[in-house]
Amino acid sequence: MMKALVLGFWMMGAAGAATPVADDPLTRPIAVERAKEWLKPAPPEKVFGDTYLVGFGGLSVALIDTGEGLVLVDGALPQAAPMILANVRALGFDPKDIKFILSTEPHWDHAGGLAALARDTGATVVASARAADALRSGEMAEDDPQHAYGGSFPAVARLRVVKDGEVLTLGRAVITAHATPGHTAGSMSWSWQACEGTTCKAIVFASSLNPVSADGYRYSSAAGASVVAGFEKSHAVMDALPCDALISAHPDNAGSGRYNAAPGACGAYADRSRGLLAKRLAEEKAGVK
Ligand SMILES: [Zn+2]
Repeated sequence: MMKALVLGFWMMGAAGAATPVADDPLTRPIAVERAKEWLKPAPPEKVFGDTYLVGFGGLSVALIDTGEGLVLVDGALPQAAPMILANVRALGFDPKDIKFILSTEPHWDHAGGLAALARDTGATVVASARAADALRSGEMAEDDPQHAYGGSFPAVARLRVVKDGEVLTLGRAVITAHATPGHTAGSMSWSWQACEGTTCKAIVFASSLNPVSADGYRYSSAAGASVVAGFEKSHAVMDALPCDALISAHPDNAGSGRYNAAPGACGAYADRSRGLLAKRLAEEKAGVK
């Protein structure tokens, strides 16, 4: 707790001298063990056409230039927001042109920065109904396999709710929402086309499909059955999506790079989750978990 406060009040200046900055509750660091690994700095990078990566070595954040405004996908941790906006600026864009921020899941590693990003850009956060409930409260849903971990993140005030299959259009971008439940009930993946001249590629930004949980949760319980069914639906969604380039919420779940443009990347992503879920259910059956 003390560490988080100190980090919030002080920033290292360019010359290495500590200079006091105002405490900002929306970017106050969530000091978790893996934050350093997740927020490993990475330069902004073009994926294809008007699609860019503006996130980190261990957490993905995407930017789409629609020609009539920008769209961001995910917000990483609260303390990541200024770095994300710096990456947007480094590509020559104005963060004030960000109109929408699409959310893959209401957990603090992907949604913690949404409130600050929305405040600083004026953008509206877009999420599923179930995710929107959690984003408004800044807390995990009761039926979230990780609910027992507790904790909170800055709540998001301005939200637009979209349904499975709904299409969001801005400028030349046509973005489709795909419900991919399991990891959270409200998880959404997003797909769109990125074009260079007459060549277009199908881009998928996939929500986490990791079947993890807090201690004591059982996927093989009565309550877990609908979560397992959600994962199975999500695997089928990933198998069926046109997928020339897969950006996954945690890049290391999709391969070794920041995104995976190999044929079958989305199917492989589903297979990885299938394998982890089968292993987990076997462990529960054997009484190991
Ligand atoms: Zn998560």
